[in-house]
Amino acid sequence: MTEELHDEYQVCYRHPDRKTLLRCNKCNRPICLECAVQTPTGYRCKDCIKNQQKIFDTAETKDLLIGGVIAFVLGLAGSYIEQLIPLFSFLSALIVGGVCGKLICTAVRRAVNKRRSQTLSLVVVIAAGVGGLIPRLTGLRIIWIYYVGAGMALSGLTQILVSLLYVIVLCVTIWMDMNGMVFRR
Ligand SMILES: [Zn+2]
Ligand SMILES: [Zn+2]
Repeated sequence: MTEELHDEYQVCYRHPDRKTLLRCNKCNRPICLECAVQTPTGYRCKDCIKNQQKIFDTAETKDLLIGGVIAFVLGLAGSYIEQLIPLFSFLSALIVGGVCGKLICTAVRRAVNKRRSQTLSLVVVIAAGVGGLIPRLTGLRIIWIYYVGAGMALSGLTQILVSLLYVIVLCVTIWMDMNGMVFRR
């Protein structure tokens, strides 16, 4: 009786010292809570998750370069355009950042023939962020000197966030869009 009860417990395949009742629903190996990753279809081991990700990762090295250049140029252009719009800065930053983010994703997707990978998403986000940041640098320096430098730290921080809003909205939009693309199928 006790022997039977014992058999229900297996040890985690990565942690032989840990008893567990969980199993990966793909490879059926026993996994402990730390090794289990919850997916929409149940618990999976980290190896199965990694293998699954590799199938989705189809982007080639040249795609990273193409995606990076497109994102940098469009992110930079959008940042300049946003500064020219005579609207409340936070409103135009939200609109232009969102639109430009979507535009970059569409352009990159077309240019790389819909190939995708997490690295590509990351490269595109960083390149767009760096491009978008360049037109802000002078403004940020001025804010830093006059607000933060003068000890008005809180007000300075708000100013910095407002002037970075375009870049933040841009990066978040791209990240969400690109990752939606990775997991959608
Ligand atoms: Zn597994
Ligand atoms: Zn484990």
